[in-house]
Amino acid sequence: MAIPVLCGSLSKFASPLGAAMHNAAYRAQGLSWHYVPFEIDDLRAALDAMRTLGIRGLGISMPFKLEIMPLLDDVDPLAARIGAVNTVVNEGGRLFGHNTDWVGATRALEEQMAVSGKRILVLGAGGAARAVAFGVLERGARVSIANRTQAKATALAEEVGAEVVAWAERHDGPWDVVVNATSAGMSEVDPTAPFDVRQDDVMVMDIVYKPLDTELVRAARAAGATTIRGDRMLLHQAARQHELYTGRDAPLAAMDAALAI
Ligand code: NAP
Repeated sequence: MAIPVLCGSLSKFASPLGAAMHNAAYRAQGLSWHYVPFEIDDLRAALDAMRTLGIRGLGISMPFKLEIMPLLDDVDPLAARIGAVNTVVNEGGRLFGHNTDWVGATRALEEQMAVSGKRILVLGAGGAARAVAFGVLERGARVSIANRTQAKATALAEEVGAEVVAWAERHDGPWDVVVNATSAGMSEVDPTAPFDVRQDDVMVMDIVYKPLDTELVRAARAAGATTIRGDRMLLHQAARQHELYTGRDAPLAAMDAALAI
């Protein structure tokens, strides 16, 4: 019988969705692997535990995606450019950081449309916003960034070559796509919508997934806009994690079905 392999996630607010998707993927491929979400405060101690226990892979959620970088043995060049790590792979005791959020965000958008040439407003300047901005710029979008703390928006925009929009002026498009990559809308943080939808021809992607139907998604739907919920990015970033952990293609249909339960 094969020795079971453990993967999981580290965050302050654990979600059951990662476990649902990854465990479904293991079942679909007949792997005796298990995924456990850990709620932690001490990141350094959790990474020591990863080495000691031989945990194969860990997803990293807020607020650890930036502070984890100097604690790792190596960081993938793409993740280093984004400046955020959301995935750690344990290669025989050496911990490698990756970023699968940018893959998740771009694949979620590309399920609906071609990103190239689109005017995209990214809300936020934290770890997830950095990945989204990086991803859509890579795909040829025209990107603007707005963040509650203006200085962070300016720094990110300068770094990636995007425009800055003042937080107070974010509602005034026209935008082809608005991506909420702030934590606003998240039940534990601030359940209000971070954007007033004033166009019915805008596509609104909210990457927040707790809850899935955020205030922003509801308002955008009511305004007649196309919406993409946070589970699409979650699915595609998890699929990339599965590829990194197991070296196999992800069983996307099984993972998607697990999210719908
Ligand atoms: P983070 O690094 O802590 O950044 C938080 C961002 O949200 C900052 O830009 C912050 O602005 C902004 N913010 C926080 N509260 C706000 C409020 N009440 N109003 C307006 N802006 C607010 O967090 P993160 O890792 O980027 O994660 C952000 C969100 O994305 C979380 O909800 C996370 O769960 C979600 N996420 C989803 C996926 C997915 O696959 N669907 C992947 C990654 C992350 P300031 O700079 O002004 O503080």
